[in-house]
Amino acid sequence: MLATGRGVVRLKSDMFDVTFVNVLYVPGLQCNFISVARAVNSGYIVKFRENTATILNKHGGTILSANKVSDMFINEQNKNTLFFARKSEEEAMKWHSRYGHQDFASIRELINKQMVRGLQVSVPKDICCALCMTNKCTQKPYCNAGSRAKDVLGIVHTDVCGLMRNLSIGGAKYLLTFIDDKTRATYLYIS
Ligand SMILES: [Zn+2]
Repeated sequence: MLATGRGVVRLKSDMFDVTFVNVLYVPGLQCNFISVARAVNSGYIVKFRENTATILNKHGGTILSANKVSDMFINEQNKNTLFFARKSEEEAMKWHSRYGHQDFASIRELINKQMVRGLQVSVPKDICCALCMTNKCTQKPYCNAGSRAKDVLGIVHTDVCGLMRNLSIGGAKYLLTFIDDKTRATYLYIS
C-alpha cells in the first residue's frame, strides 16, 4: 500500500489534546498506526507494560495510552472508530457476497433507491473485494495493433465458436464469424 498524502492531525478529547505531524494518508488502510520510533525521536517517552502502552511527554504527563489486545496496543479513543469502520465494511461485503459479488455501485443503488425492503447498509467509498479483483480480471486489455488494412478484404479476421453444449432451435452447434479489417463488415454463419 502506498501513501497518497501527508499532513497534520489533531486528536482532541476530555483526556488529551495531541497533534501529530507528518501523518501519512494511506487510502486502503483500515486503522491508524503510531510510529513508536518517531515518537521517541521527537522527544516523547514510550512505556510498554504487560497490558498497556503509554506515551508521555518530557515532563512525565500522559499524552496517549493504549491497551493490549492480542499482540496489538489499541488506543481506546480510536477503538470505537475502528470498530464502526470495520462493521460497515463487513456488512457491505456480506451483501456484496450475497448478491453473487455484485459491484458496489449497484449495491449502493439498491440501498439508495430502497429497492430492497429493509436493506440499510453503508457502503464505504474505498471498499474493494480481493476476490473480485483477482477473479474478474480474466485478461489484460487489448492493445491497439497500430496497423489496419488499406484495402477491403486486405485482412479478414475469423473465429469459430463451438461445439455448443446446447443446440440452437434449428439444431446448429457452431458459430463462424468473418470480419473485414478495413470496413468492419461482419458476416456470421451458424451451422
Ligand atoms: Zn467480490
